[in-house]
Amino acid sequence: MDFFFNTPPELNSDETNEPFQHCLICNEDLLHSGVPYSVEKAKKVLESGDEVTLYEMAICMPCAEQMNKRVSAHSRQVMEDFFEEIGLMELRRNMPSSDDPDAWKTRCMLSGKAKSDIQEYNIVAQMVNGRTMFGMPPMIIDLSIMEPLHEKLSPETKEEFDNFRDEFLAPSDPELRALLADSSFVFF
Ligand SMILES: [Zn+2]
Repeated sequence: MDFFFNTPPELNSDETNEPFQHCLICNEDLLHSGVPYSVEKAKKVLESGDEVTLYEMAICMPCAEQMNKRVSAHSRQVMEDFFEEIGLMELRRNMPSSDDPDAWKTRCMLSGKAKSDIQEYNIVAQMVNGRTMFGMPPMIIDLSIMEPLHEKLSPETKEEFDNFRDEFLAPSDPELRALLADSSFVFF
């Protein structure tokens, strides 16, 4: 298995400036266990131009699969159709990964929109033992293109997402909490 030589600092925890060490849900060790996990961060550019992290999390694959099972069949189908429509896998395969290790952070992987034109986005990466796999570069996803998907999710699924957000991601800063409550939370 090939890895990027360096793990981008964007994939470290913004809170500690260190790599994520444990699964948010089950506390599994992520840096030595070899269990695949995903890192997800939600970022928002404020009117002042400052960028804030609404939430950040690392979740091991088994926990993500458990989460997925709780999503209604209807919503799962909606999500699959959505990602198929935009050709997620295809896009990802075509990402320039080898020549420029910084290419992933310049634009939304789904829409191609330049990051400088995006107000709210997620950073998503699949990792093993603190490293991203070669051919699976991290992604930036413009949240505005996820809105149509969010509208189609079943009320049960939205509630499930919201419960998860409230249980695990509620930031202590009330301003951030309000911003997060406003955003359409989607679990990748
Ligand atoms: Zn876990």
